[in-house]
Amino acid sequence: MRKACVAGNWKMHKTVTEAETLVQELLPGLEGISAVDNVICPPFTALDRIAGMVRGSKIELGAQNVFWEEQGAYTGEISPPMLAELVKHVIIGHSERRAYFQESDQTVNKKVQAALTAGLRPILCVGETLEEYEAGKTGQVVRRQLLAALDGVSEEGISTMMIAYEPVWAIGTGKAATPEGANRVIRDYIRDELAGLFSRKVADRIRILYGGSVKPVNAREFFEQPDIDGALVGGASLKADDFIQITQAAI
Ligand code: PEP
Repeated sequence: MRKACVAGNWKMHKTVTEAETLVQELLPGLEGISAVDNVICPPFTALDRIAGMVRGSKIELGAQNVFWEEQGAYTGEISPPMLAELVKHVIIGHSERRAYFQESDQTVNKKVQAALTAGLRPILCVGETLEEYEAGKTGQVVRRQLLAALDGVSEEGISTMMIAYEPVWAIGTGKAATPEGANRVIRDYIRDELAGLFSRKVADRIRILYGGSVKPVNAREFFEQPDIDGALVGGASLKADDFIQITQAAI
């Protein structure tokens, strides 16, 4: 049995003060839901403060990005050891980073490896663009992103990770994938690939999330799918009520 996980990607939203308010609202609503894990990923600036607030609670903390070098002259970047003091998880390869910050399959792989070395747990995002979807290339793209990102990753490493299937055309658009369609991609191009790469036993243990316009109204349909183990939530993770309701739907 894989325990469901609902993770929130706050993206570039919330000042430190606003982040504190949101966490104050989330804590009482999530605390009783022990059947589901929760991860929140605020911006870097709020991590230190929020780490103090969630310590001892069920909320786990994640970052939204990381650089691959440990230290050095890389103005503006944040290294894995810097994050490891504050967070347990880190989102790597989000489509917005691939689209706006030139992240490639190769840099995503470097980030995954560096994060694992520092003891962080990557939440690896993969997913096709609208153009690729319409060209029938979903499987090819998802498989390519997955295999490239996991190049050189050990069984021990993958066992600490989560994968998020996030079709780019569904992110922030209000047009979610169909639950059956998302499940098919996750099963055929992620879980079965993991089985080939590692073993069926390992593949069956890895949590694979769906992301893309998950809201309280549609969350349950995704969680009912056999290969979908939770959600990576963007917009709806910024409203405490919505994030709590999505978590309740995962019970
Ligand atoms: C995301 O940014 O990972 C995401 C899934 O966004 P949204 O839920 O807003 O579509």
